[in-house]
Amino acid sequence: MRLTFLGVRGSTPAPGADFVRYGGHTSCIAVSTDGDNEPQIVLDAGTGLRRLTDLLAPNAFSGSILLSHLHWDHVQGIPFFGAGDRPDSRADLFLPGEPGMSGRDLLARFMSPPFFPIAPEGLKGQWTFTAPEPEPFTVEGFDVLPFEVSHKGGRTFGYRITLGSASIAYVPDHAPAAGVDALAYEAMRGVDVLIHDAQFLDHERPRAVDYGHATIDEAIALAQRVDAHRLVLFHHSPHRTDVALDQIATEFSRGGFTLTAYEGMTLDLG
Ligand SMILES: [Zn+2]
Ligand SMILES: [Zn+2]
Repeated sequence: MRLTFLGVRGSTPAPGADFVRYGGHTSCIAVSTDGDNEPQIVLDAGTGLRRLTDLLAPNAFSGSILLSHLHWDHVQGIPFFGAGDRPDSRADLFLPGEPGMSGRDLLARFMSPPFFPIAPEGLKGQWTFTAPEPEPFTVEGFDVLPFEVSHKGGRTFGYRITLGSASIAYVPDHAPAAGVDALAYEAMRGVDVLIHDAQFLDHERPRAVDYGHATIDEAIALAQRVDAHRLVLFHHSPHRTDVALDQIATEFSRGGFTLTAYEGMTLDLG
């Protein structure tokens, strides 16, 4: 399994000279099988999704997009995803459902006039929109387990993704302080890599609790509790400059156990 980090910010993009090395795009990770640079799965569709069009060029996207939840920083790349918005593309999009609403209708609440010129069905190519329950399913040859996590402002999933002997858990927005249930612990247990919300520092903890996010110390404690082999600090605050993230990368390395995500980072597992 190969992971390519295309966007590592939380909340809102962070352009500008202070953010060039870690990157300013919001959450998006491409997941592909070994030695294959064309991802079959994309985790979240923040503004980082735009980078995937260049990565795939000249090809169209053909695969599945798993959304953790529907906050702006996880969906705003969808209408600007050139490799997905063309006649020869295929995209099967999965998102956490809300009672009484289809996946398409949920997405259309942010993507339709007057908020945006087109609705989901205005995207070219073959798109499907599905709101799965947190139960295991198989997609593109990967085993996927969505699980509910505490966050604020809408239902939020984490995902465990398994391919052969390689496994990851993707939990970009999570407030462990609000409680972690047994199913979530089990879904994260023993993964090769836990990619986790690390938006706040310990002295910012009141804001982390207010906004439904994690501190880096909480992410490390969680990774140790579930016996993850490595932890990727992800969903960086849009205020966190390259200099500040360098300091975090050094302070929290724990002998290589913890990696600080940056745009363009790749990990090969399994
Ligand atoms: Zn977010
Ligand atoms: Zn969120």
